[in-house]
Formats: sequence, C-alpha cells, structure tokens
Amino acid sequence: MSLPFNIAIDGYSSSGKSTLAKKIARKYNMQYIDTGAMYRAITYYFIKNDMIHDYGIDFNRLDHHLNQIDIDFNYDVNTEKSTTILNNENIEDIIRSPLVSQNVSVVSKILVVRNKLIHLQQKKGEFGNIVMDGRDIGSKVFPNAGLKLFITADINKRAERRLKELTQKGYDVNLNDILQNIKKRDYDDSNRKYNPLIFTDDAVLINNSDNSINEQLTFIDSLIQQKLKNYENNN
Ligand code: C5P
Repeated sequence: MSLPFNIAIDGYSSSGKSTLAKKIARKYNMQYIDTGAMYRAITYYFIKNDMIHDYGIDFNRLDHHLNQIDIDFNYDVNTEKSTTILNNENIEDIIRSPLVSQNVSVVSKILVVRNKLIHLQQKKGEFGNIVMDGRDIGSKVFPNAGLKLFITADINKRAERRLKELTQKGYDVNLNDILQNIKKRDYDDSNRKYNPLIFTDDAVLINNSDNSINEQLTFIDSLIQQKLKNYENNN
C-alpha cells in the first residue's frame, strides 16, 4: 500500500522524528527523506572547505560552493537504514558528529541554503507518497501535506537518547554537552528569521516522553486511516 499524499513530520532536535518516519515509510511503502541530513551535509561540506569562521560564514564563496553540492539518499526499506550521499561520498556517519551538530544551525539559517534545499525537497514530493522530517516541512515545504505531525519530548529524555546513540557510534561525549547543544539548536531553529520551527494549527502534536514507538505508531495509523477516508471522499 502507498499513500496518495505526503506526510510532514516536524519537531525538536532528537525527539525521535526520524525513527517514526522510517517506521511509517516501511509500513506504507513510502519514500523517507531526512531533511536534517541535507542541512548537515551542507554543513559538513562547508567545514571541509573551510567556509565557517569565528566571524561567521564566508559569503563570498557561498554561491560558487552551493552549485558544487549534490545530495542524494540511498534508503534500504528492509534495514530501515538511510544513507546520505554528498557528491558520491557516503557521509552518513560523519554528519552525525558533534562538530557538524555544533555548526549546523549557523548554516541552516542562511536563506540561499534553505531555498536550495526546499526546492530539492519539493521536487521529491511532487507525486506524493513521501514521508519527510525536519523543522519547516508542514509550514513551508509541504503546506498541503495530507498529514502533519509535530513531535516533541522532555529535553532530558531527548539528550539521553542522543547520548546513547553517539556513545554506540564510539563518540566520547557527555550528557551535559549534548543537552546544551540540543537547547541551543531548539532555540536557534525556533528563532531564526527564515522558516523557523513552528507548530502549525493543522498539525497533530505528539509528546513521546512516555510513549513507546509502537504506541505512537498505533495512534498515527488511526490518523492516516482517517486522512485517507477524507482524501477519498474529496477526490
Ligand atoms: O533533524 P536534525 O537534528 O538532524 O537537523 C539538524 C539541523 O538541521 C537542525 O538543528 C536545523 O538547524 C536544521 N534543519 C532545518 N530545517 C529542516 C531540517 C533541519 O533547519 N527542515
């Protein structure tokens, strides 16, 4: 089964958006797109090309470099693993590093960066059946998405989840640094000038601090069935 519409998932950092999105993609045979990975990919490219300085971004070289960037995904439905590819390089692991997390908000607030990625994201969603997660999907990328979810969770739980994830990958990190990074990104993402993270009136709020992934999925399933009925009645 596939869906005739797109699903937009927005929410705070480390709130479990991508875990949910991958499960929904698998169940409904949809394509999953992690837009955070796209902003992380550009951040990684900028770090590699020495474009991020204490005083900010090197704007003189911005357009030239943005034109060199090609981002793609390989998604394996069975393993639920999405791999981010930047100019033919597999960057899936490196873009989750603390260095990229610390710099991504500076990059994601730049209008030309956002416009480039929003254009790519909208193209991918032209024909429906996409589940996309990020910060501005319901408000900007797919304002007409068939279902919009806004995910949040207690900040300490989010930090603990991130700590576990990074420790498993071998990073030497501590809970307090992660907590500070999440707080800063939540603040920066919600307060930036262009396409900030906002809760739109037509989104369904899910606070998953105390809910298992299966409980959330059961709830989302019922929402999807409802939306499908409405969609069929209106088309
Ligand atoms: O989702 P993830 O935590 O990987 O996103 C990394 C960063 O990318 C966010 O903190 C935010 O600055 C940026 N982002 C964004 N808009 C999106 C997705 C992510 O600004 N749609």
